[in-house]
Amino acid sequence: TTMAKTFKHIILGGGVSAGYAAREFAKQGLKPGELAIISKEAVAPYERPALSKAYLFPESPARLPGFHVCVGSGGERLLPEWYQEKGIELILSTEIVKADIAAKSLISAGGETFSYENLIIATGSTVIRLTDFGVEGADAKNIFYLREVDDADKLYEAIKAKKNGKAVVVGGGYIGLELSAVLRLNNIDVTMVYPEPWCMPRLFTSGIAAFYEGYYANKGVNIIKGTVAVGFTANSDGEVKEVKLKDGRVLEADIVVVGVGGRPQISLFKGQVEEDKGGIKTDSFFKTNVSNVYAVGDVATFPLKLYGELRRVEHVDHARKSAEQAVKAIKAAEDGKAVEEYDYLPYFYSRSFDLSWQFYGDNVGDTVLFGDNNPESPKPKFGTYWIKDGKVVGAFLESGTPEENKAIAKVARVQPPVQDVDQLAKEGLSFASKI
Ligand code: FAD
Repeated sequence: TTMAKTFKHIILGGGVSAGYAAREFAKQGLKPGELAIISKEAVAPYERPALSKAYLFPESPARLPGFHVCVGSGGERLLPEWYQEKGIELILSTEIVKADIAAKSLISAGGETFSYENLIIATGSTVIRLTDFGVEGADAKNIFYLREVDDADKLYEAIKAKKNGKAVVVGGGYIGLELSAVLRLNNIDVTMVYPEPWCMPRLFTSGIAAFYEGYYANKGVNIIKGTVAVGFTANSDGEVKEVKLKDGRVLEADIVVVGVGGRPQISLFKGQVEEDKGGIKTDSFFKTNVSNVYAVGDVATFPLKLYGELRRVEHVDHARKSAEQAVKAIKAAEDGKAVEEYDYLPYFYSRSFDLSWQFYGDNVGDTVLFGDNNPESPKPKFGTYWIKDGKVVGAFLESGTPEENKAIAKVARVQPPVQDVDQLAKEGLSFASKI
């Protein structure tokens, strides 16, 4: 038998939170050889959101090493050399297939064993596939999903190979909206299909969605709502040719992109750490119920102090901040010190075409739409407040300036009372700017 490779700290997963955790370890002080990052991806941690945006642009697309962490939040870019200089071992193209929490060890597909004192679980999410539900023909060629840089490369090749072709985008969430836009920019004929009455229903109100649906229609994106893809046919090469919809319609397709959601990758730890709300349960320091095991990013179900409840958040800003919090807590514990509890303000964003929105806080309660949400306007700018128990608890803004985005973030944090909802609608953004 071979000896286990031993590290003081192992980060399992090489995505966004792994990169930000590594930077925080370096900042807090780390000896060479103490930290390893184990990733099934072949590249150092990078800013994943780029994959559905600039990575697929027709002109000068973003490529690694351009978007390694921590450029996405205005920090220094961590190239593979950086990890080398810091004595951080990047163990790439290595999938862990077994975790033994009691023995403090991980085993790779290649049969290697890695031991640790502290483990940070940063395995992120995996996409939900149509083949998971046995959708007929869903294993045809040119049906794509998007999670990792390899997936983006395959989609990019298909876009080049199917020049001026037709694409069907299954799903009306972030991935569906961002990929539809970028496929249109590549002059692909795009049809989106989703079952809900409007896009991004988990966040958007009908008023917000109406703007994006109108804007996308003006850009030539066809939208079919209220039905789902129930099957695919392929040509003699096994390439997808048609998408069959539940309502009986059949759409031609050279490319299909599926964005129907993700699920946290926690199966390695089943029965070994406590779970809640579909993720690994942590405290405010991202420590699990096992004292030397932490979980950060998409997999963590943590106390969201502002709302007094446990939540799981699948967004990049939280991946970054939770990673930093976990490392601060690990280092403070070593010195017998304490760190402050995580006090997160949820922040989501997306970009497509010339659009860019930000959302802060909680999307619960009544809503007030303000501003110009006419998709035909030359410079549309609009937003929405969410009001619960007489206080503004969430705010959304399309096409905000940096100052305006800061103002809506502050509103969501401060939760000012609202006396008059009609007045709030009239004041719009100036309400936020006064807080
Ligand atoms: P990830 O970044 O997913 O990293 C997980 C890593 O773990 C991967 O490298 C994976 O290969 C590795 N791994 C998993 N299991 C194993 C194993 N068993 N062995 C070895 N390695 C393993 N959020 C936003 O807020 N705004 C956006 O615009 C936005 N755009 C996005 C676009 C795309 C295409 C995607 C996929 C996500 C987007 N997100 C966005 C979400 C955001 O990227 C994630 O929330 C964030 O990446 C989560 O970070 P993480 O470190 O938890 O997981």
